[in-house]
Amino acid sequence: MKNRREFIKKTALVTAGSTLFLAGCSDSSPPTKSVNINKNRKTRISLATSWPANFPIMGEGISRFAKRVGVISGGSIKIKVHPKNELVPAFGVFDATSVGAIDAYHSASYFYKGKNEAFNLFTGFPFGLTATEMNAWIDFGGGMEIWRELYAKHNLVPFKGGNTDVQMGGWFKKEINTLEDLKGLKMRIPGLGGEVFAKLGVKPILLPPGEIFVSLERNMLDATEWLGPSLDIKMGFAKVAKNYYTGWHEPGSMLSLVFNKKKFDKLSDEQKMMIEMASNELNSTMATEFQYENAKALKEIKKLDVTIRSFPKEIMEKARLAMMEVAKEKSAKSADFKLAWESAYAFMEENRAWSDIGMRAYLEAR
Ligand code: CA
Repeated sequence: MKNRREFIKKTALVTAGSTLFLAGCSDSSPPTKSVNINKNRKTRISLATSWPANFPIMGEGISRFAKRVGVISGGSIKIKVHPKNELVPAFGVFDATSVGAIDAYHSASYFYKGKNEAFNLFTGFPFGLTATEMNAWIDFGGGMEIWRELYAKHNLVPFKGGNTDVQMGGWFKKEINTLEDLKGLKMRIPGLGGEVFAKLGVKPILLPPGEIFVSLERNMLDATEWLGPSLDIKMGFAKVAKNYYTGWHEPGSMLSLVFNKKKFDKLSDEQKMMIEMASNELNSTMATEFQYENAKALKEIKKLDVTIRSFPKEIMEKARLAMMEVAKEKSAKSADFKLAWESAYAFMEENRAWSDIGMRAYLEAR
């Protein structure tokens, strides 16, 4: 009974509070003085990224995020961004944040599939969710709850950190006409895409970004994927591989902005919300910037001696089935993968009809 009385007392207080608040709002004159309730609460956050300094779109995006959080928080949150290797190597950011050596990082979840196969799925999967569908799964389809739950085991709190939007299938020296053409093909393709193509006979090869062009030029690679026109054009692949294929393996790759949980829990509610809102902005602005830059770069690529192609239906159908096999195998081995896969895949099936009837029909009409 005491609890109930307490509850009623508290509710009454809250109600009184909101009435006062509403009364304040009904006055149309603007507040004369804004109060920064976090003014004396200075938080410093060291954030490391997996990108080189000033890396276009992704690196620039996180630097802009840091600056804007500084402004909207009235200086109460200061985020210092460290490019890869300044504090930790590109892929060392997950562990460094997990143990609290740094406070936060900007990277992509699939780089850490070695920790947990499920982490692939918080970036995306071949033949999977588009960028819009990915955001919808994370925000409304239960994706964020699973992501938070699995990252909490590593003392981490993840947020959406940008989206590359649909990626291209990559640069091929020879035209691909049949499944036979993929057999033994040496291709730089990481992640689930690589595992799927491996089932079709491709030899996936992992190389640091700086070695891809040279390997392609010297025939140590027959093909490579990278991202989309905006970043691909800077890599110079068009000089040595003349067939540029449309995408299937990274339909809407989401980046991640991740905080050490202990550090994040110490922030005030207002600061937490500022981070969340700024992460949403980072996420959507990055996707729109990719849209803008890809369109511009595609125009330039079309002026080069390059043919843009799509893989034959037969190959895409086999690859799609191979993805289902990969998912089945991983689900059998990892309960976490199974949990995230079943959620993401069911979400995609639920969204398929609307995406087809809405966006696909519209694009065809246009
Ligand atoms: Ca890629």
